[in-house]
Amino acid sequence: MRSVLQSLKEYQDVLIRIAELDRLLSMVPPDVENLGKEWNSIKDRITQLTTRQGEQQTQLKEKQTALGEANIKAKKFEEDLHQVTNTREYHAALKEIDGAKKLIHTLQESVTARQTELKEIETNLEECSQLEAESRSRYDEAMTRLKESQKEHQIELGEKKRIRDAVAQNIPPRIMKQFERIAMRRNGVGLAICINSVCTACNVRVRQNVVDELRKFKRLISCESCKRILLFGDQE
Ligand SMILES: [Zn+2]
Repeated sequence: MRSVLQSLKEYQDVLIRIAELDRLLSMVPPDVENLGKEWNSIKDRITQLTTRQGEQQTQLKEKQTALGEANIKAKKFEEDLHQVTNTREYHAALKEIDGAKKLIHTLQESVTARQTELKEIETNLEECSQLEAESRSRYDEAMTRLKESQKEHQIELGEKKRIRDAVAQNIPPRIMKQFERIAMRRNGVGLAICINSVCTACNVRVRQNVVDELRKFKRLISCESCKRILLFGDQE
């Protein structure tokens, strides 16, 4: 029975490590995740800036076209001025010229504003693409490191599964079933070590006559409190 209990202990240790490795393999560590988030937020910023740049370029083109048209109109009004035949027509033509000049002024201001804005966007975009490149390389490095450690975990997982299957051969099916039934209800821990007359899984005192029995390794004994199979662990 002693060797069966030792195998159970080994079996349980390997199960715990397998669960830990599964957990490590299924998650992205927070530091790597944060680097990914940082990179994405910079990319979002670049997308926003690019959209804004497109809008401003469209508006600039519209204003420039309007400005061109306004200039042509203004020139035509100037020509009209030379062909007036009376004072009324003269004043009307002057009014048209005045209106056209005001429009040209407004459009010019608008064109300048768009150009200034576009320059600003361009500067921001340059800064952002610099930041994006730095952020991406930090993320890539972290991912490479993660993949390397995941590879190690994957190898260890394979080894541990082989050990688990080999150790399972040393445990009689009846005892294995009992262990698995307990482990399933107790976070995968079906075996507890009794040290100094205390169950180390639930910290409840084990009666002296039970400890004496455990010491003999003659039969399977469960903790009266947590029901886990007990293994005598005092150094002899
Ligand atoms: Zn216990």
